[in-house]
This record gives sequence, C-alpha cells and structure tokens, in this order.
Amino acid sequence: MDELLEIVNVYVVDPLILGEVASTVHAKDAPWSEDYSRTRQFFVLWAFLYLSSMFVYVLFGGLTFTLFFVQRRQTNLDPGRKEHHAIPPANALTDNPAYWPWDNKQLRNELWVSTWSLFLMAGMTACVDLYFLLGGSRLYNSIDEYGWAYFLASPFLFLFFTDALIYWIHRILHWPSVYWLHKLHHKYKETTPWSAFSFHPLDGFAQSVPYHLFALFFPMHSRLYTATLMVVGLWTVNIHDRMTLRLWGVNGAAHHTVHHVAFNYNYGQYFTWSDHVFGTFKDPHVSWPYELDEAELEKNKQKEQAERRAAAGKQVQPIDDSPNVSPKQSNKKKQ
Ligand SMILES: [Zn+2]
Ligand SMILES: [Zn+2]
Repeated sequence: MDELLEIVNVYVVDPLILGEVASTVHAKDAPWSEDYSRTRQFFVLWAFLYLSSMFVYVLFGGLTFTLFFVQRRQTNLDPGRKEHHAIPPANALTDNPAYWPWDNKQLRNELWVSTWSLFLMAGMTACVDLYFLLGGSRLYNSIDEYGWAYFLASPFLFLFFTDALIYWIHRILHWPSVYWLHKLHHKYKETTPWSAFSFHPLDGFAQSVPYHLFALFFPMHSRLYTATLMVVGLWTVNIHDRMTLRLWGVNGAAHHTVHHVAFNYNYGQYFTWSDHVFGTFKDPHVSWPYELDEAELEKNKQKEQAERRAAAGKQVQPIDDSPNVSPKQSNKKKQ
C-alpha cells in the first residue's frame, strides 16, 4: 500500500495536482510518510482508496453484469413467455422466471448508493490506513520476517478470522435496534453485481472492521494484505451476481441470495460454518427462497414484527422489506 501511495504521490499528485509547488516541499527519494504532512497523507489516501474501490466495482461489476445478465438475457430469451428471461446455466440458482431480468430503477439506485457510500467509506478507511502506514499495524514488508509457510497460510487465517467476525457483525446488524443501518442493502431482493457495495457507509465500514482488526493483531505481508482485500472486493461482487459456486462449505451467491430474500439465514461472507454452528444455515439448493411455503413466510414476518414491536415498545409500521414472495412469483410458482 505504501509503495502504491508513493507512486501516486510522486507521479500523479505532485506533477498533475500540485505542479511546481511540489518540488519545493519534498524530495522524491524520501519516505513519503515522513515527507508529507498528515493532512496531505490523509486526503491522498482517501482519494486513492475511493478511486481504487470504484475501479474494482465498475470493472468487475460491469464485467459480471455484462456476462451474466446482459449476454444471457439476450441469448436465452424465451419467446413463449411475455417476460424476457433467460434459461439459467446448469450452475445458476434457479429456474425462476424472475431470475435474469433486472429493474433499471434498482440499477440506478444501486449505482448511486454505491458511488456516495464508497466515497464516505473510503474516508473512514483512510483514517485507519493512515494509522497503519505510520506503523500502527503488524503488516510487514519482507517474507523473511515470518517465512514462506506463514506467508502462504496467512490469507487462510485472514479469511477464517474475518468470516467469523463478519458473521456476528452482520447478525447484529439484523437486530431491530440497529437494522436501520443495514436496511438500505436489504431493499434489493433480486441482487445484481451493482448491489455489492450498496450499503449505508456505516454499515459497510462496520463490516470491514474485521479486516482492520486482522492487520492490527496478526502479521501479514503488506502486498498480500492489499491483494487479499482486492479478492474480498471481488468476492463481494460475486455473491451478488447470482452465479454461484457449489463448493462444500463455501457461502456462494446462492446462499447470499437466500439471505437477501429469506432475510434471517446465511449471514456468512465466505464460508457457511458459522451459519451451521449457530443454526442460521439454509441450503439454497434444497430450499430456494421463492419456494418457502406461505406458512413459513408468515411465521418469519410475524417474528420480525414482534421483534420490532419489542424494540420500539409501540405499534410498528407495516413491514415493506420482510422476506416475501411477490404475488407475481407466487402465481407463477402455482402454475
Ligand atoms: Zn443482511
Ligand atoms: Zn448483500
């Protein structure tokens, strides 16, 4: 990260933004963290984190949206139905006719929310990363420090540690008292790759806290840490693009789609073990959320209403975001 930022400072910020002034305020061969003011470091970090996260979002979101939604919809139109829908590939989630089409209004909303939310999340993350760059983390730069075995094992340690914490942070975000933070992300029932970063900024930051805690408590090579975070970003896009990996123990797009629709299942990020251990696992390949029976849907709705009533201590408003099946989908199911 610090090497990347040095490149950004020397080759972008100085010549293109600060111009001549830059040459008078620092020497290019000095370590950037000692050479620049904290204020400058913070704003460069913020801009860097925002632009790089937007790059990952637009590049991979655009790629998966084009491949899995646009292409498949165009090549798999079923002329026998009024709605245009695709015949899903063998490893897709469902044959539900509402599967492939998308709602342009939702897409615009996802893009808009992600664009401003990533901006604010990057600002919050810049505070943490500045602390790390000034020596506050256990990130290291030479593989020799902990050896190759630890270097190769550390990404797996990272995934298990962060997955376990994200499970509980995510589950707590579903508590009625704090659900207002997470609600923004749950208004998308039919997720698209563009849903991946559509969070309230505090929700997104809360779910990223385990990544920062890891760097605080566990040694990890700094380049590997940056690369792993990029993979985390790609994974987040993947679990929203509805193309699932059917790997045992892996929380794929199918599981996360169950979470968006059936609400109180599959809180995990990469793995399903926490859901198994704590009783919130629902197998999407056995029980597709659109196939939840009416009694179970009603039970979920009543449970959520009771929780909200208990939290608010008063009459609650009708729920518009509880797991439900649209009449259109129910009708199709019965046909
Ligand atoms: Zn959730
Ligand atoms: Zn989601």
